[in-house]
Amino acid sequence: MAERPHDPTAEFRASTDLAARNGWDREYQTYSDFDLPVYVGQSTFQKLPWITDPAELLARGVDVAIIGAPFDDAVSHRPGARFGPRAIREANYGTGSLNSLQLDVEPFEVLTVVDAGDANIVPAWIERAHAVIYRKVHEVAATGAIPFILGGDHSITWPAVTAVAELRRPGSVGIVHFDAHADTANDDWGVLAGHGTPMRRLIESGAVAGRNFVQVGLRGYWPPRDTFAWMKAQGLRWHFMREIEERGAEAVIADAVAEALDGPDYVYLSLDIDVIDPGMAPGTGTPEPGGMLTRELLRAIRHVAGQVELAGMDVVEVSPPYDHAQTTAMAANRAVLEALSALAVKKRDGRRVRWGGGEAAS
Ligand code: MN
Ligand code: MN
Repeated sequence: MAERPHDPTAEFRASTDLAARNGWDREYQTYSDFDLPVYVGQSTFQKLPWITDPAELLARGVDVAIIGAPFDDAVSHRPGARFGPRAIREANYGTGSLNSLQLDVEPFEVLTVVDAGDANIVPAWIERAHAVIYRKVHEVAATGAIPFILGGDHSITWPAVTAVAELRRPGSVGIVHFDAHADTANDDWGVLAGHGTPMRRLIESGAVAGRNFVQVGLRGYWPPRDTFAWMKAQGLRWHFMREIEERGAEAVIADAVAEALDGPDYVYLSLDIDVIDPGMAPGTGTPEPGGMLTRELLRAIRHVAGQVELAGMDVVEVSPPYDHAQTTAMAANRAVLEALSALAVKKRDGRRVRWGGGEAAS
């Protein structure tokens, strides 16, 4: 029997009589995927185009590319951050051309932002995961786009920053690191690639100089004293949560931004969502009571992204299984949006956002 071409129009016509009886034959407005509700259609960050081909990223002149790093095999306590990228992508009821009330800008009207997809992760293989995250971030950032990486546990910062630092050479990359934990341990129970060690690995490998590290929000009972002695010897600067309690977030963030600008050519912003108080962001692997307010953090992100030359950003340790009301994923989603909006203000003002150097310029 000959194959007949599929003709959905003919089927629709054939059914119109029945549909008309129900009143379904009238004209309805249809919407592009970008404007549809977030739970309809493709699950990209804010329903932005899914562009995984580096040549296409380059051709479009992408300013910021979202990358998923769905990996959590390096956690020390509660797992689940492998589900973080999808949760963060979807954690907003708003779609289409958003309007930032805080910064008076429509980020997606000013910036070219796409979702560049996920690193090629498979479970239960830390070394392979770190290698493919490194390659994915390198491939995307080499096009001149600023990579925004959605974790994943914090170990993903090791390969992500390594890729960015390598591309920006001979310029130097510093890190502004929001976290309840310093993540500068030598090892997690003998494992060098754990989520408590990425900052140590970055310094030891030479990707980032210790003096170009600024940490904000440290509190609780970890790491031990000898780790702080090592950090001091490397020249790291850090701000305990108790300093925010004493002086207020505004004064501490102003100091942190000044320190971040004092040294490196570019800054990478690494946000461990557990810097926020677990009362507001419970969906994380190692919650530490007594943290920042969500509004303090979002304001801090706007300040950092607006003032430094941003080379990359990650948002890590969002664990949806513990995020009973989606508040953690929403905070992470908004942290990304705040950084995007701050970059949009820069671009609107004629300042450089997209990276102009390296392979992208040749
Ligand atoms: Mn942490
Ligand atoms: Mn961390």
